[in-house]
Amino acid sequence: MELLKERILKDGVVKPGNVLKVDSFLNHQMDIDLINEIGKEFRRRFPSEKITKILTIEASGIGIACIAAQYFHVPVVFAKKAQSINIDGEVYHTRVESFTHKKVYDVILSKKFLGPEDHVLVIDDFLANGCALMGLLDLIHEAGASIEGAGIVIEKGFQQGGKLIRESGVHLESLAIIDSMTDTGLSFR
Ligand code: 5GP
Repeated sequence: MELLKERILKDGVVKPGNVLKVDSFLNHQMDIDLINEIGKEFRRRFPSEKITKILTIEASGIGIACIAAQYFHVPVVFAKKAQSINIDGEVYHTRVESFTHKKVYDVILSKKFLGPEDHVLVIDDFLANGCALMGLLDLIHEAGASIEGAGIVIEKGFQQGGKLIRESGVHLESLAIIDSMTDTGLSFR
């Protein structure tokens, strides 16, 4: 998606540890006109009428998923991160290692909001090693729901997540795929 790539080149900042900061337009301050175009592009890439729910993970995925959902006319449900939990049988549960915070989170989703009848599109801001996305796919499997695909705003193509997810057969669409990133610049696939 050219508009997104131009914006990453203009305002993205590469930080040590292979972290791209896009907090001026995507995940802290949010450029709603841009995210609206992102939402339309997800709809174009996932035209299926079968989608019944959009699933994301807190916090940065939520705003993007909500704007995209206006083009799908389905509810957004977000997985919650918890430091520690008592699994009470009312929630689906998985564990996710955070790329940016280097810790492992318990991630939960109420059983009320996802079930075998659902066809789910996953949306998230970044794909790096794939831990967050694989955690969300675990929750969908636990629920017995169907995976319609995963839409990612920025994939860091030099990390393994995209390859793992594509090899697993999931329809993955990333709107910008970064092939290399240094403090002097970045290039897209
Ligand atoms: P993964 O689980 O694929 O390794 O990482 C995905 C999650 O880590 C995303 O939900 C995102 O919040 C965060 N993340 C990974 N890489 C970056 C990055 O380069 N910049 C930012 N801002 N977040 C990232």
